[in-house]
Amino acid sequence: CGIVGYVGGRPALQIVLDGLRRLEYRGYDSAGIAVIDNSVILTEKKAGKLANLEKALVERAGDGISVGSTAIGHTRWATHGGPTDRNAHPHLSADGRVAVIHNGIIENFARLRAELEATSVEFVSDTDTECAAHLLAAEMRALREAGAGAGAEDGPQLLAEGMRRVVRRLEGAFTLLAVDVEVPDAVVAARRNSPLVVGRGDGENFLASDVSAFIEHTREAVELGQDQVVLITPAGIEITDFTGAPATGKEFHIDWDA
Ligand code: GLU
Repeated sequence: CGIVGYVGGRPALQIVLDGLRRLEYRGYDSAGIAVIDNSVILTEKKAGKLANLEKALVERAGDGISVGSTAIGHTRWATHGGPTDRNAHPHLSADGRVAVIHNGIIENFARLRAELEATSVEFVSDTDTECAAHLLAAEMRALREAGAGAGAEDGPQLLAEGMRRVVRRLEGAFTLLAVDVEVPDAVVAARRNSPLVVGRGDGENFLASDVSAFIEHTREAVELGQDQVVLITPAGIEITDFTGAPATGKEFHIDWDA
C-alpha cells in the first residue's frame, strides 16, 4: 500500500500516478486519486490494478482531473471493508470539500463513526478511513467560523490545524493525507506508526510513503518523525507536532540510484 501527494506548478495527475506505480511493489488491492482543479475536488478510484484506474482516467482526458496541480494518490490494502470501488480511497466528506487518503488502521473508528452518525453524517463506505474525512470537514467548518476576522484567514494554516485536531482524536496507525477545496495549493499530512517522507522540490513539493515515489523529481528528502504533521505548499514545507509546536524531520539526501 502506498501514498503520494504533490503540490506545484505542473499537472499533478501523471506525477502522482507514476509515484503510485513506483510503490506497487508494496502490494495493494485498489487505487485512487483526488485532484483539485478550479474549486472542485475531482476523484477517481478503482478496485484492482493501477491499470484499472488509468483506464478510467483515459476516459476523462481533458477533464480538470488531468490539469489540476494539487493531488493525492493511494494504493489500498483493505483492512476494513472489502476491496471495492466504493471502499477505495480517496474518501470525501459529505459536502465534497475535503478528501482524505490513509494507510494503516484507525482503531477507534467505530466510536467516531457512531458519533458522526449521531450528527446525521451519512457514511458511503465500510472503511475506518472515512471517519477522518468527515471529522476534518467538521473541524474546517468550525475553524472557519471561529477564524473569521481573527487573523486565521491563512488557508494552509487552517488546514494544518484542522488535521492536528483530527489526529489528536485518532488511535492506531496512520499515514494520512488530505486536501481541502478552499485551500487549493496545499496538502497536509500526518503520521503515527506508519511511514511518511517529504520530497523537497523547486516550486513544488512531494509526499510519499517512501522516497522511490518521487526520486525522479528530487533527491532532497525529509523523513517525518512519530506524531508529526506536515503542510506542503509550492513554496514550502512546515512541520509541527500534533499540538502545533514547531518540529523538525530528518533531512537527508538520496544518493542511491532509482
Ligand atoms: N484501513 C484502511 C482501509 O481499509 C487503509 C488500508 C491501507 O493501509 O491501505 O481502507
